This record gives sequence, structure tokens and C-alpha cells, in this order.
Amino acid sequence: SEVIRADALSKTYSEGKLNTRVFEGLDFKVEAGESVAIVGASGAGKSTLLHILGGLDVPSAGEVYVQGQKMSALADAARGVLRNKALGFIYQFHHLLPEFTALENVMLPQMLGGVDKQRAADAAKVLLEQVGLGARLEHKPGELSGGERQRAAVARALVNSPACVLGDEPTGNLDDRTADTVFNLMLDLNRAQKTSLVLVTHNRKLAKRLGRVLELTNGKLKEVALDEV
Ligand code: ADP
Ligand code: ADP
Repeated sequence: SEVIRADALSKTYSEGKLNTRVFEGLDFKVEAGESVAIVGASGAGKSTLLHILGGLDVPSAGEVYVQGQKMSALADAARGVLRNKALGFIYQFHHLLPEFTALENVMLPQMLGGVDKQRAADAAKVLLEQVGLGARLEHKPGELSGGERQRAAVARALVNSPACVLGDEPTGNLDDRTADTVFNLMLDLNRAQKTSLVLVTHNRKLAKRLGRVLELTNGKLKEVALDEV
């Protein structure tokens, strides 16, 4: 079954008389258990596409369906519930809440989904340990290094066992070894729980480890053969 489907997506940014057409008539879908890398030059529209798929931005035309539900047809609250349940989002800028500890930040998606505090804390600890932050539970984002903040954001994205993880350069600020650890964690989830992955990355070595590589170029998504990545 399809976790995310986008039909005939178009996006044009308009600022006064200036229009930037990013893409037009773009189709995309990701099945349960599929892992997809999105590559492409800087400015090609990768972040824009990911934001629209995740419901953080609206398309100028076209529709996004998450687990079969048309995003534009849902009220804000229902869209929020669906996003929190179905999607894990790793932004380029981590967007952790500065006044909360790492543990509290990672507990949040579960608390929003109605999980009780103790269970949310237990699940958050397990993931923070898996990303190597077991000794940073009580640190606030401002007390973590850039790489540690990114790993906390990855833990937060995974903690609700989402159907699909949308990642915008999720390992971009990490050294090679940490990037590998975090990437492996996502691949493990993909294999063990059929979590779909849609990851924007310019790291070709990592992109090749995903099942499918799509290049966003001139407003179109092009399938790239894995041996050509
Ligand atoms: P990528 O992630 O592939 O680097 P982006 O999706 O960030 O590309 O940007 C695609 C194009 O849209 C770029 O030309 C960028 O300048 C433009 N763009 C992105 N965000 C905005 C915005 N908020 N307002 C106007 N133009 C934008
Ligand atoms: P990195 O080499 O990953 O960029 P840093 O040199 O920034 O790491 O930080 C090293 C360690 O010091 C990190 O584990 C971080 O948690 C801790 N740290 C950094 N800044 C603070 C701070 N303001 N308060 C408490 N701990 C901090």
C-alpha cells in the first residue's frame, strides 16, 4: 500500500512580481517498506518537495495523500494527528524545542499521541541510547553540539514508529562514523518495521544504500539506476 502519494504537484513561490517555479506536474509515490533517496543540485527543489510531502508547506497545485488521506481535505487538527502518527520528519534545521531537554524533546511526539509519560520516557531513552546520546538525556539543545542536536532530532523522528520518515539531509552535519550509525539505524527500521524512508541527501554513498534513487532536475523526478549513482 502507498504511504505517500503526490499527484501533479506544482510549486511556484511568488514574492511581489517575482515568481520562482520550482516544479510542475510532479508525481511521486512511496510504498510501505520502500526506501527512496532524493538527490539533485542545490536549488533544485528537494527541500520544497519534502516540506510539501510532509504537510509543512502547501503545493500551488496538485494533491498529497498520506496513507490514502487527502491532506488538503483535512481540517488542521486532523492533519496534525495524521502527520504525528504517520510521519517522522527530520528537518535540515533540527527544530528541537530549546527549553526542553533532549529526553523531553524525544518524548513529545508520543505525548502528543496520548502515550503516558513513563512509557514515552522509556521509549525516548531507548532511541537516545541508540543514537549515542544516552549520557545527554537532561541536556537542552543549547548544551548539545550540532551533531548531538541532529541525532536527537533523528531520535524524535523515529520514536513514534512512523509509517514513513522524511529526512532533509538527516546526516548532513555528522562526521562519517556518526552519519553511518544514524543511517544504519534508519535502514534497520526500514527492514525490521517496514518504515518507509524518503531521504534527501547529497551523499552518494549513502543514497546508494537506499532501494531507489530519484534525481530532481528541471522540475522533474528522474529514476537513476543505482550503478549510476
Ligand atoms: P534544494 O532543497 O534542492 O536546495 P529548495 O527547495 O530549497 O531547493 O529551493 C528550490 C527553489 O525555490 C530555489 O530556487 C529557492 O531559491 C526557492 N525557494 C525556496 N524557498 C523559498 C521561499 N520561501 N520563498 C521563495 N523562494 C524559495
Ligand atoms: P562537537 O565536537 O560534536 O561539535 P562540542 O565540542 O561542541 O562537540 O561539544 C563537546 C561536548 O560538550 C558535547 O558533548 C556537548 O554535549 C558538551 N557541551 C557543549 N556545549 C555545552 C554547554 N553549553 N553546556 C553543557 N555542555 C556542553
